[in-house]
Amino acid sequence: MSSMRLIVAGAAGRMGRSLVRAISETDGVELSGAFERPGSPALGKDAGELAGVGPLGVAISDDPLSLVVEADGVLDFTTPDATVALSEFAAQGRIVHVIGTTGLDEPHLARLDAAARHAVVVRSGNMSLGVNLLAALVRQAAAALGPDWDIEVLEMHHRAKVDAPSGTALLLGEAAAEGRGISLAQNAVRSRDGHTGARVEGTIGFASLRGGSVVGEHTVILAGAGERVELGHRAEDRMIFARGAVKAAIWGFRRKPGHYSMADVLGLTG
Ligand code: NAP
Repeated sequence: MSSMRLIVAGAAGRMGRSLVRAISETDGVELSGAFERPGSPALGKDAGELAGVGPLGVAISDDPLSLVVEADGVLDFTTPDATVALSEFAAQGRIVHVIGTTGLDEPHLARLDAAARHAVVVRSGNMSLGVNLLAALVRQAAAALGPDWDIEVLEMHHRAKVDAPSGTALLLGEAAAEGRGISLAQNAVRSRDGHTGARVEGTIGFASLRGGSVVGEHTVILAGAGERVELGHRAEDRMIFARGAVKAAIWGFRRKPGHYSMADVLGLTG
């Protein structure tokens, strides 16, 4: 059987280079294209050389549409605007669009839903097995403990991260809200500053730390009167996300169009 042909969006980025590496070490998939935005200094360079795996014969282009027509899937960890634009090409090509990009707002998500009528979209704020398992544990803990247990999500990332709270923190907050049977949007406290007043019962709080080269650390704290439960995850290497994204692409190949999550890929939705 021929390999699944994959493109990497933002191939010169931190995650882009990890994705190229993950494809090169996985059987059954091959890198058929790589692109960056027009004007990027990476254009024309070999994607494998940039990723540190040696030349792969795939030069970085600035023309995603011409790559999509020759591919079965695209792995996309870029920016919200780039992701939404790419989703229209993926829908035209009816290919798998694996999205790790975070910081998407409601209008972005509505456009991804529209694209998912024609493409297989697999999107997650975190593509690692560990965090998706953690989300299932958080859902269970939040369901077991009543609203008098305060839920706070603490995250730390490297100094270059541009959005907060992290996509993973929001994914974990969403799991806690689901466990409680409430809406995260209506109960989230995404930051605190100044005279905030006392904590409102049933809210889910977030705190974000930024610094150094931290790949990603998350702790969900369930704080009751006189005791505290802490559930956490530490990412030590970006390859956990990249390998998860390749796994998601393989899972999505020839599946019917729709907007799926990493929990679907890992069979953690039940
Ligand atoms: P990064 O190093 O800045 O990489 C993003 C890359 O995308 C850059 O090379 C950027 O190029 C490129 N890009 C921007 N606009 C583009 C366009 N229109 N077309 C093609 N390429 C474009 O960032 P990162 O650390 O890899 O993170 C990328 C995203 O993935 C973030 O949203 C992050 O939160 C998310 N992330 C998700 C997971 C997960 O498991 N879901 C894990 C880690 C990170 P320029 O630098 O030239 O603009």
